[in-house]
Amino acid sequence: MPPRSHVLLEANYRQLLDDPPNVAVLPWGATEAHNYHMPHGTDVYEAQLLAEHAAGAAAKQGAKPIVLPVVPFGNDGQQLDQVATISIGTATAMAILSDVVSSLQKQNIDKLVILNAHGGNEFKPLVRDLQAETGMFIVVVNFWQLIPDLVNKIFAPPGNGPGDHAGELETALMPHLTPDLVALDQAGPGAMHDFALKTLRQSGVWTPRPWSATHPDTGAGDPRKATADKGKRCFEAMSEKVAALLAEVSQASKGQLPYV
Ligand SMILES: [Zn+2]
Repeated sequence: MPPRSHVLLEANYRQLLDDPPNVAVLPWGATEAHNYHMPHGTDVYEAQLLAEHAAGAAAKQGAKPIVLPVVPFGNDGQQLDQVATISIGTATAMAILSDVVSSLQKQNIDKLVILNAHGGNEFKPLVRDLQAETGMFIVVVNFWQLIPDLVNKIFAPPGNGPGDHAGELETALMPHLTPDLVALDQAGPGAMHDFALKTLRQSGVWTPRPWSATHPDTGAGDPRKATADKGKRCFEAMSEKVAALLAEVSQASKGQLPYV
């Protein structure tokens, strides 16, 4: 297999000079426990493999994407009691993002898509500031939110529902992507405990979950009916959505974007 020119870790300088990219994709994960049965790198694999797959499909549609190396750490501030979990704070995330943006702008790449795989990563305030300061066109994709209708259909009863973290949806993706790294027979039920204070349980009110107390096996959602086939259907549908976005953004001219 020749190196894929849309994956920066594989591409050589000759390929990139001959066919320069115009939209960068930054996969962003987290390294954290996913119940007892999935790798700590689950979000990293998901972000990287989805970005590569979607960018490949977008390139076939005439887009010029380049997938950057994945950022492996995310905001895990409420999971620091779990072994070997590293959390990066918002200031660190801003520093990384801001350096990525200023580097890309020096190479005339002025469109960036962040492909986020971790619910604890919040990019909106960072992007609002950076877009206003630099003019870089930045799009954030939370991949698990891309296909709500299909997800609700696939994980409807007798399934257990998609779950929130290491649940049936996320557990289904991994046997499709990295079958050797999933030990489903070790999975806990992914049960969640509510907050003791009932006023914290209403919509419109939020405080971060103290993860180990609210999620005893670290999972949120029962993973035990997940299958690779369900994961494949979701992955392909998500990839199609990301590819279409990359194709449209890549081919858009400056005047069509919010920043002229
Ligand atoms: Zn995850």
